[in-house]
Amino acid sequence: MTTAKRTRRTAKSKSTPCPDCTTGQVSESFKVGARSKRESSDRQEALCLTCFGTSHAPTD
Ligand SMILES: [Zn+2]
Repeated sequence: MTTAKRTRRTAKSKSTPCPDCTTGQVSESFKVGARSKRESSDRQEALCLTCFGTSHAPTD
C-alpha cells in the first residue's frame, strides 16, 4: 500500500466573493426606445465591473 500523500493547497489568501455578482457576470435589462414604455424582457449579460468577471472582490 502506498502512503497517503498530503495534498498541499496553495491558498495564499482568502478570496472574497464579489458583492455585486456571483458568477462574474451581471444581467442588466436594457430599455427599448423612449416611445415604448415597456421594458424588454430580454436581459443582457454583461461583465461585472466590480470584479471584472472574476467573481471575486478585488483585494486592494
Ligand atoms: Zn462581480
